Amino acid sequence: MATPASVGNFTLDSELRFLSFEAGDGATLPSDARTLLGRSVWDAFDGSWRSLLYPGLRRAQRERVGVKWEAVHTETETRYAFEIEPRSDSYRVRYYVIPPTPQESPAPPAKGSRTRNAIGAEVDDAYFQRAADMLVVLSATEGKILKVNPAWSRSVGYSAESIEGRSLLDLTHPDDRADAYAALQHTLRSETDSPIHFTCRIKNQSGEWRYLQWFATPHPEADQVYAAARDVTESRTTELAMRRQATTDALTELLNRRGLEEELTRALIEAGRQKKHLAVVFIDLDRFKPINDSFGHEIGDQMLQVVAGRLTAAVRGRDLVARLGGDEFVVALTEIASPSDAEAVAQKLLLAVTAPTNLAGHELFVTASIGISVYPTDGPDADTLIKNADAAMYKTKHSGRAGVALYSEKLPQAEAARITIESGLSKAIERGELRLFYQEQRHAKTGNLVGFEALLRWHHAEHGVIGPGQFIPLAEETGLIVPMGAWAMGEAARQASVWETLADGLNMSVNVSPRQFAEGDRLVQSVRDALSESAFHPERLDLEITESMLAGDSVELKRTLHRLKDLGVKLSLDDFGTGYSALAMLPQLPFDRVKIDRSFIERLCESEKDEAVVRLVIELSHTLGMKVVAEGVETLAQYEKLTTLGCDVLQGYFFGKPLPPGEVPLLLSSKGA
Ligand code: C2E
Ligand code: CA
Ligand code: CA
Repeated sequence: MATPASVGNFTLDSELRFLSFEAGDGATLPSDARTLLGRSVWDAFDGSWRSLLYPGLRRAQRERVGVKWEAVHTETETRYAFEIEPRSDSYRVRYYVIPPTPQESPAPPAKGSRTRNAIGAEVDDAYFQRAADMLVVLSATEGKILKVNPAWSRSVGYSAESIEGRSLLDLTHPDDRADAYAALQHTLRSETDSPIHFTCRIKNQSGEWRYLQWFATPHPEADQVYAAARDVTESRTTELAMRRQATTDALTELLNRRGLEEELTRALIEAGRQKKHLAVVFIDLDRFKPINDSFGHEIGDQMLQVVAGRLTAAVRGRDLVARLGGDEFVVALTEIASPSDAEAVAQKLLLAVTAPTNLAGHELFVTASIGISVYPTDGPDADTLIKNADAAMYKTKHSGRAGVALYSEKLPQAEAARITIESGLSKAIERGELRLFYQEQRHAKTGNLVGFEALLRWHHAEHGVIGPGQFIPLAEETGLIVPMGAWAMGEAARQASVWETLADGLNMSVNVSPRQFAEGDRLVQSVRDALSESAFHPERLDLEITESMLAGDSVELKRTLHRLKDLGVKLSLDDFGTGYSALAMLPQLPFDRVKIDRSFIERLCESEKDEAVVRLVIELSHTLGMKVVAEGVETLAQYEKLTTLGCDVLQGYFFGKPLPPGEVPLLLSSKGA
């Protein structure tokens, strides 16, 4: 670049009014300092000066970046270089004159062919031809391109001949057309001197969409608009990418919380306008943490991606799918006819989430707790609807099973009940409010009674009998399950040895929670105590250990299992099939029985796949020398099928519901063991 002949500088405030002005030697801007101070550049200078300063000043103002540019003063044909630097609330501008070189000196302006530039200053064709900005003359009514400069052809690729006469709107992206048209109309009616600006996408000659930022000034006498344009695709794309980043969850590519709130707010405005329902479905995975803990975060992440993909595939394109973080997802159903519609979709989502997933050689399962809130009944805005769907989700979670719940006004009361339960739970043991109910287990071939499973109940002073689904998760969370479980162990053993006098050889199964199992020493001690206090046969005491526990540390796990085996008790693998594909681990673990989960038995007679699974589990268990128990047998058909498949022990409502201990002696005497 040529050496500056002389440097001048000035400072402008945030509204581009002169704060200071220092002309460089020989590089004078057209006024002296005293007349400039406090005046806006647009007001202080005439058209040709304004057109020199315009592109850089505007860009610096809008983008808050430093800008360097060159421009030729059309009257004096002097070439200037400008440099602007934005400060916190002002702009500092330096400028100098670039000495003309022979090639650079502009051709003399063609007389009579003057065109106005973007800010309405009279400029001649030389300026029009040389300007770095794209300049276009348009007919305002239909946006027809009347004249373009070489910068335009360089930037968007079309030659002047091929483009003049076509409508700008034809080249404009369909989504931006209405806005572009409105901006042109607005320009034509505009009475201010400052240009109207707008941005639209234009298809360039190679078919790409480019974002052009336009500054348009009216020329009403001719029904024309003069417009300068700049390609802002890069900054726009960066801006969009940044926006996307701020509203997208990086792991799953779903919306994040912020993205969901924004999009949901938009969708709610639309739903309000059209008087339509909208549902927010809150999905929380139930058994995700153990997957992360035992298979590692990589598998955990992949699992979340699988869930994200399934949720997206299960809903319509206009619905919103988001991940709020961790294992929490939200789906917003933007068009539903009624709340029950939402429930149906939520069931579909539940199925999609719970389908088994093969990752790195493991067959993994998660379940989900789902809550729904519906607009407008359950809340007016995104925030409330998400919060209420979350509350409904908690209702499902505390029922202890995967499932779906609708938000209802009663929920806050349910929440209150939860709190009283929580505070009462710690006193339940000392107050003697815990009871065990006993559910019979029958020999599949002979139908004989072989034993019982002890199931906890809480006789609450105010709420009556509370099932384990309502307090076990809480007891698990608070650690209260440890003393409760120890109590159940002792009580079941005591009860079993009493009943032994009525029927010989009865087994007693007791559930062991993950928390109890994790505290191996205490568990071993409580089993030892139960056995010594009751004098019950160790080989008839059976501990039911849920399959999900196998996801833990396998060394520690085996150690605890063997220590229990050393006491002489039996071990059952509970809820088999719902957790972590323990099949491969089975041969290495000292289990005596496998309890096939109720969900398989439920579908046994309808689904060939489930039948195949049950058959396989039975065969494999037998090969490994283990007995198989089926739980949740409710129908004669299930009973018969399980017997045919070779299942050993059956348990379920078909034979009997869990009974209070007082009713058991009657059963023992009438049905016999
Ligand atoms: P689980 O160990 O799978 O117990 C079987 C559950 O299925 C029991 O529910 C039982 O009443 C129910 N059930 C039995 N037969 C049928 C049937 O034919 N159809 C249907 N629909 N259900 C049937 P319950 O008593 O509500 O216990 C729920 C869960 O609470 C148990 O599931 C167990 O995980 C936990 N639990 C119960 N007692 C204890 C305990 O003393 N300690 C621990 N740690 N957990 C317990
Ligand atoms: Ca059980
Ligand atoms: Ca079970």
